[in-house]
Amino acid sequence: MRRPCQVFALLVSALLLPACHETRKHVREFDGASAFHYIETQMSFGPRIPGTEAHRKMVAWLDSLLRKRADTLIVQSWTHVTAAGDSLPLTNFIARFQPAATKRLLFLAHYDSRPRADSPTSTDSTKPVPGANDGGSGVALLLGVADVLKRVPPTVGVDLLFDDGEDYGDFVKTPDDVLMGSRYYAAHQVPGPQPLYAVLFDLIADKDLQIFEEGNSVVGAPEVVELVWNTAKDLGYAGTFVATPKHTLIDDHLELQKVGIRAIDVVDFDYPAWHTKDDTIDKVSGASLQIVGDVAVELVRRE
Ligand SMILES: [Zn+2]
Repeated sequence: MRRPCQVFALLVSALLLPACHETRKHVREFDGASAFHYIETQMSFGPRIPGTEAHRKMVAWLDSLLRKRADTLIVQSWTHVTAAGDSLPLTNFIARFQPAATKRLLFLAHYDSRPRADSPTSTDSTKPVPGANDGGSGVALLLGVADVLKRVPPTVGVDLLFDDGEDYGDFVKTPDDVLMGSRYYAAHQVPGPQPLYAVLFDLIADKDLQIFEEGNSVVGAPEVVELVWNTAKDLGYAGTFVATPKHTLIDDHLELQKVGIRAIDVVDFDYPAWHTKDDTIDKVSGASLQIVGDVAVELVRRE
């Protein structure tokens, strides 16, 4: 998309460049309302905790949706034995668009739900996390991007990784029981070139959406942070994507950084319902998904 615009401008006049740019800006491909329905469907399954019926339904649903949308679907299945000795059936989905392209982008989101609502602010840590925003929003975003890429295929390769087992254990006491899907993906990479960069999306549908830069992203892949926040700014979303670091998180992007992938985390961590039983559908909105979805699609079209 970029090259014809430039050539056109060179041939005619620099004055036409804004017009050309303007034409692109008006194409809104991502549909926030239908992405919101993808959160509703996940909520109807119940918390998607590995080893439960809801998780099995989630796996079957993702499998059927992604087969209809992607050029190639890679399914990674394995069993993880937890520190407590439980065996968890885990599955990663890698939905590939233009699988032969050497220039590739990777977007990822975890789809599992946390078995215990153990936030320090939680009123009942025996309950699971419903995961409307935590897990649910990232999946909805990636599925919305898959719909867009099915309609108008990208000129670069795009991989959408739906990873499992991000949120199962305790991040301090049982670190092997979290980030399991991204660790498995990093250890079993798809043959071929690594992506130019990777963007992890989570907690991106909060009705009160404000996304600050994340500390480990700024340290590990500052140029990707700059690219994503600049893209948001170009779309008029500088008020939502605040170009200042705030929280520093242990998340799936770190497992990818360890194997040399320029991975960052796009996450609104100012979410009072985080890891509580109140992470429910009334806290999230299609309007917020629209903003982040527009940015994600623009990242693809910009290449
Ligand atoms: Zn979580």
